[in-house]
Amino acid sequence: MKKVLKNVSFVFLLLKMCIILGQETATQKRIIIDVGHGGKDSGAIGINKIQEKDVVLDIALEIFSLNKQSETPLDIYLTRYSDTLISLTDRSKLSKALKADVFISLHCNHSDNPNARGVEVYVANTTSKYSKKAAWLAFQLQAAFRKQLGFESRGVKFANFQVLRESVDYRPAVLVEAGFLTNEDEGRYFSQPSKIRTMSMAILKGIYNYSNTRL
Ligand SMILES: [Zn+2]
Repeated sequence: MKKVLKNVSFVFLLLKMCIILGQETATQKRIIIDVGHGGKDSGAIGINKIQEKDVVLDIALEIFSLNKQSETPLDIYLTRYSDTLISLTDRSKLSKALKADVFISLHCNHSDNPNARGVEVYVANTTSKYSKKAAWLAFQLQAAFRKQLGFESRGVKFANFQVLRESVDYRPAVLVEAGFLTNEDEGRYFSQPSKIRTMSMAILKGIYNYSNTRL
């Protein structure tokens, strides 16, 4: 009899865990991926005339579809799904309207120095109650680029970018400069669909790691 009771309480425990996990997915964080530039604004132009607006759209669309295929998808929205230009103000307005919990702006870097390479992640240079979370997200994304892709880290930096400034009081926000289009190795990397997929998986992993941490 005792054994049966034990089993019953184990089943109850399992049931309880399922309910808790179920609630967790119901209150899942809403993540906005802001796809930089678009339309007449090409952003940076790199080796072989590769354009930043196309690279970041490819990465974002891949993140979006990989997430949909996941067993535990996150609630992800993009600020654009095609080659259109959206103003910086409208990007912030959209994340406010969607009540986003997290804002990630996706960009690629460029430099006159062809040797410049690596990943930079920016957070707002003013503090708010979300600063700690933003720094943690930035760290997770840097770590994903380094561990999964072998990209050099140029560190987490502070900047007064408009999209960060307009998000700082409402949600953790970061801006990712995912490597240099003007660098031979990194520019070539962004030209290959298979590498775009690997990069998208790394970013998604960084977001998962951040979402699974309670701060
Ligand atoms: Zn950019």
